[in-house]
Amino acid sequence: MIEIKNLTKKYGDHVAVDNLTFTVKKGQIYGFLGPNGAGKSTTMNIITGYIGATSGQVKINGYDIFEEPEQAKKCIGYLPEQPPLYMDMTPYEYLKFVAELKKIPKGQRRDMIEEIMDRTKIYEVKDRLIKNLSKGYRQRVGVAQALLGYPEIIILDEPTVGLDPKQIIDIRDLIREIGEKHTVILSSHILSEVSAICDHVVIISNGKLIASDSPANLTKELQGSTSVSLTVLGQKKAIQQVLSSRSQIRQYTISESKEEPGAYDAELTCIGSADLREELFTAFAKIKCPILKMQTSGMSLEDVFLELTDEGAAEKGNTEETNTKETAIKETDTKETNTEEKEEE
Ligand code: ADP
Ligand code: MG
Repeated sequence: MIEIKNLTKKYGDHVAVDNLTFTVKKGQIYGFLGPNGAGKSTTMNIITGYIGATSGQVKINGYDIFEEPEQAKKCIGYLPEQPPLYMDMTPYEYLKFVAELKKIPKGQRRDMIEEIMDRTKIYEVKDRLIKNLSKGYRQRVGVAQALLGYPEIIILDEPTVGLDPKQIIDIRDLIREIGEKHTVILSSHILSEVSAICDHVVIISNGKLIASDSPANLTKELQGSTSVSLTVLGQKKAIQQVLSSRSQIRQYTISESKEEPGAYDAELTCIGSADLREELFTAFAKIKCPILKMQTSGMSLEDVFLELTDEGAAEKGNTEETNTKETAIKETDTKETNTEEKEEE
């Protein structure tokens, strides 16, 4: 349905979208998950034909968005991060206006608008000015304009941002309903939101694709993850070489040890629940770099998500990061909900 190949978008020297490749299949709800600035909106703006790309390819139902934008755009309904609402119109006037823009045949407009207002539950506010509506209702009007013309694909950029908890539940229900008839892509920076609504999650960070899988598989894969902190005496390069050559290590940071002169502290995230201590002991012994300290602990899904999307964690290795990671090892069953509540304030 949507094929994205090696998509890159640069703003000057800044790479906002970095060589993204993935496919969206028909009939599923896709979640774009990533922290602020990850490149979610930029990617969505490219897919929907709002902005161009620096390089790469996007095909919507076989139509190239850059070469055949008219046909490609016809397949998509889009709710951008800033909904393009006209505050001095009523929802009904606004939807009539959008229906014209989308060139929906005159004879079909009325029934379609009625049906969509009904589906998005904005019927009771259809004659009030949009500027007087709550954020929740405005967001519904935004979703309604995306649905006009019944495009096969509906793209929603952070549809729950700024809503109160009740409105969030309502919008999520609406998205699930839409997902029964349309292919949906939504973006969010909240892990629990994406895993609650989506069939498939694409995690991006710094414009790069980090993971793409079902929430169940991601949870299975990530939840059992272990982390290892160790202090090793030796050359940084040699230590990095040992760590980089271990396929079981998903990511690591390395920094000069504060406590042990000449040594380095490393924080590793392992794939699954592998226990690498023995292997690390042997590997470092072989290159005569003594391990001064080593400790292992479990990680929650939220911890791993934060770690995966941590800016350039594998390269930077500054001490600040090491500190945050030490505090990340906690009991975390309730953490997801907590984070979400914070987001909703
Ligand atoms: P997200 O939606 O995931 O929060 P964005 O796609 O909005 O992320 O932004 C990705 C990166 O691109 C950010 O670092 C942002 O500052 C940068 N960016 C986005 N739009 C522009 C622009 N028009 N000019 C320059 N930089 C931009
Ligand atoms: Mg955004």
